[in-house]
Amino acid sequence: MHKRYNIVAVSQHPRELSFAHVPTQILRIHILIVTVGLTVDPTELLRLGVDGQLSVDPADVETASSDFGLMTRAKPLAVLHPASAEDVARLIRAAYGSAPGLTVSARGHGHSINGQAQATNGVVIKMSSSRERTAADQTSAAAAAARPQVSEREMYVDVWGGDLWIDVLKATLEHGLAPKSWTDYLYLTVGGTLSNAGISGQTFNHGPQIANVQELDVVTGKGELLTCSEEKNSELFHAVLGGLGQFGIITRARIALEPAPQRVRWIRVLYSNFSSFTKDQEFLISLHGLPASQRFDYVEGFVIVDEGLINNWRSSFFSPRNPVKLSSINADGGVLYCLEITKNYDESTAETIDQEVEGLLKKLDFIPTSVFTTDLPYVDFLDRVHKAELKLRSKGLWDVPHPWFNLFVPKSRISDFDEGVFKSILGNKTSGPILIYPMNKDKWDQRSSAVTPDEDVFYLVALLRSALDTADETQSLEYLMHQNRQILRFCAAAGIKAKQYLPHYTTQQEWVDHFGDKWAQFHKRKMEFDPRHILATGQRIFTPSFAHNTKNTKPINTHNSIIASS
Ligand SMILES: Cc1cc2nc3c(=O)[nH]c(=O)nc-3n(C[C@H](O)[C@H](O)[C@H](O)COP(=O)(O)OP(=O)(O)OC[C@H]3O[C@@H](n4cnc5c(N)ncnc54)[C@H](O)[C@@H]3O)c2cc1C
Repeated sequence: MHKRYNIVAVSQHPRELSFAHVPTQILRIHILIVTVGLTVDPTELLRLGVDGQLSVDPADVETASSDFGLMTRAKPLAVLHPASAEDVARLIRAAYGSAPGLTVSARGHGHSINGQAQATNGVVIKMSSSRERTAADQTSAAAAAARPQVSEREMYVDVWGGDLWIDVLKATLEHGLAPKSWTDYLYLTVGGTLSNAGISGQTFNHGPQIANVQELDVVTGKGELLTCSEEKNSELFHAVLGGLGQFGIITRARIALEPAPQRVRWIRVLYSNFSSFTKDQEFLISLHGLPASQRFDYVEGFVIVDEGLINNWRSSFFSPRNPVKLSSINADGGVLYCLEITKNYDESTAETIDQEVEGLLKKLDFIPTSVFTTDLPYVDFLDRVHKAELKLRSKGLWDVPHPWFNLFVPKSRISDFDEGVFKSILGNKTSGPILIYPMNKDKWDQRSSAVTPDEDVFYLVALLRSALDTADETQSLEYLMHQNRQILRFCAAAGIKAKQYLPHYTTQQEWVDHFGDKWAQFHKRKMEFDPRHILATGQRIFTPSFAHNTKNTKPINTHNSIIASS
């Protein structure tokens, strides 16, 4: 019979715990073992013998307790800075074999909204190896993250699961190559975006990031370190892609590359009519099979429901050189739509780029006076949101609650969504960008765990709003979260079969509904690869087999964010 303990750090000078020298370390950091509120047998952790560091430093624990959403808190027992994939496997083997049980969550860059990378009373594995390394990173995640290995001949790169996409880009550009499919923001980890899908304006053409992976190394919930691909351990490969961290921890990913473009022509045009806007977006994504010269490389768009938005952080492009006076444009129901497109080029195509862009723009039905164009290096285009981040940080507007909400809406109902949400529920004020762009379903591999609507074309609608503590109640967290719930209720009442992207639910029934036809397979894969349900419990899909010690996840800032304890 195992005794269970809480591990509580009481040191004034907490340090990371290297289990190679256990007894003295324990004394040095004054770990107090109490037998009240028993959770885990520490001797099981102490036997790990990891090469990296297991930290109970309050700063590490604090970081792992929170995320970009700033709406949910859950305190782990400890944070592992792995030195290798083998360290990850050691921890999970110990957790899997532990009689009282221990949950383990990989944390990428912690850019989730609802605590998805947290682990109440468990261990968080800090996968990220960003350039801003902490002392612990210097010897652990950084060591694991050997530089990305590029194969120029076979056009792929092998990366550590905790690498940031910005670092992957920089490493591949040294070889004149780059990944094909992106997210709008590059300070996210490879493992984090591959656990969701990874989407941006290239998705209509190349599919999401999960469709551009050739091979993975994964540590399953049983602690096995397996290589998987379409040919090898294929069930695990497809399970993990879009798998919300439920089946294993990605320690290595092999990403397909293409020759890197040098420059980007970046264009924005406005529409006052929603059906012209979506007709043009759908036309542009239908060109995906054509040679590059006959299509754009990136298709996105956003909604402008109030004048403030036109110069918001996501659309700073318009100003100061291109100020837009909304009042000068006759908006449909007060709402404008902005199509955002790009064309990549380099020296060899520099002479024809103007003609190609002109030829494509001629086929579109935007407001003729509303063309805004800029030209910039490829890397600056891909890294555009980081510039906005730095601006927001300087104004203290980055570390605020983010009740972000993403939906995939089937094409057949997008105009109903426009009427009911953009022109009604949102009112004429919003506090952040609202993205809208379509994707082709046949670019998504149906064997993956990702869930999309049941139509050939569907739209991402992303409400990327920040809550501010001002006198204006329309900017409050409660108000924005209430609107998110109203939108879900509106979709349900109108029979719009939308699916959440980066999903967040509070009951298992909602998860079953979310996965629909895929639930049985998702469940079966869980039983096979993480039978004790110890991984990524912050997603709240499955109950760990020892649920008594995982129940103190707390919503912060709001009473509306009710977190079910699985
Ligand atoms: C400013 C900003 C812009 C964004 N833009 C986009 C965008 O354009 N397109 C898009 O698709 N998404 C976008 N996202 C969302 C982003 O993809 C998710 O937040 C995603 O979770 C990646 O973040 P992360 O690396 O910080 O992962 P985390 O939030 O740390 O983790 C997310 C989930 O993945 C699991 N996980 C993390 N690493 C691994 C691993 N190595 N193996 C297995 N599971 C793992 C975690 O346990 C957790 O459940 C954006 C987010 C922000 C904050």
